[in-house]
Amino acid sequence: MSKDKFSLQGRTALVTGGARGCGLAFARGLAEAGANVAIFDLIPPEEAFKTIEKDYGVRTAYYNVDVSSQESLQRGFEQFQRDFNNALDICVPCAGINRHLPFLEFTYKDHHDLLSINVLGVYFTAQLAAKQMIANGTKHGSIVLVASMTSHIAVRSQLCSAYCGTKGAVRSMCPAIAKELAEYVSVRVLPISESHHNAEQDIRVNSISPGYVRTEMTAPFPHLLEAWKDETMNGRVAEPEDMMGPCVFLASDASAYMTGQDIVVDGGATRCVDHEG
Ligand code: NAD
Repeated sequence: MSKDKFSLQGRTALVTGGARGCGLAFARGLAEAGANVAIFDLIPPEEAFKTIEKDYGVRTAYYNVDVSSQESLQRGFEQFQRDFNNALDICVPCAGINRHLPFLEFTYKDHHDLLSINVLGVYFTAQLAAKQMIANGTKHGSIVLVASMTSHIAVRSQLCSAYCGTKGAVRSMCPAIAKELAEYVSVRVLPISESHHNAEQDIRVNSISPGYVRTEMTAPFPHLLEAWKDETMNGRVAEPEDMMGPCVFLASDASAYMTGQDIVVDGGATRCVDHEG
């Protein structure tokens, strides 16, 4: 297979939550593969985002967007469309938060915040991205949702029942959105709107489920990061850079026959049971 299959040269990507952590790693990975990258975030990006243009010769932009606000998200997309001439091939709705509270103490307010960012923010980012991809006729549409290992298993010593639920929602919305978009752009099934029917177009939707990653999200739990090492097969927690390769793969034509799938990137943690422990 030609290595060009992994190239994102000439494509445009949007990453939410791209200012730091996994989102920043996704942004850098996509740029290294050749894509122009815009990010939506509440906070200004770290230095490693600012050097992308120099490092990889692609275009970047940062937009101050709150993905939990319909208005902010809509405004962000409008600015991004204007600045990038409506180009969009890859979208990674990565912005997410966690709340560490016992199940028996969770409040509606806490849960609402999680849902509005981790579920509504992801869903409507994907929806707006898909609309833009349909409108611009990209042949290489790829949406990479960010779920979590915790949508597959309960993690020892973590009080994150509501977070796990939101990540389960992301993982299960993935095949349903993938199917609808495939039908929408396909010749095989009558499209929802004849006007957008385009047999040449492909928009795939997959998700990544990271395991334990060393970011600001997990930084408050150094003792857990230490303990989690032993739950992986390779004896270490992930760095954000460990997430780059799977994202580039799903964004690229190398994964052209994959849609509606979840890739677990967890150092084998979900496949490993320690009977001694
Ligand atoms: P992080 O806290 O380092 O980064 C999250 C980013 O999202 C930040 O830049 C933050 O400002 C941004 N953000 C938060 N709320 C936002 C909003 N309303 N609008 C726009 N941006 C917003 O966390 P991370 O570990 O890099 O997590 C990134 C994603 O990966 C999240 O969806 C998280 O659930 C997922 N994930 C992380 C881990 C892990 O172990 N760190 C494991 C599995 C999944």
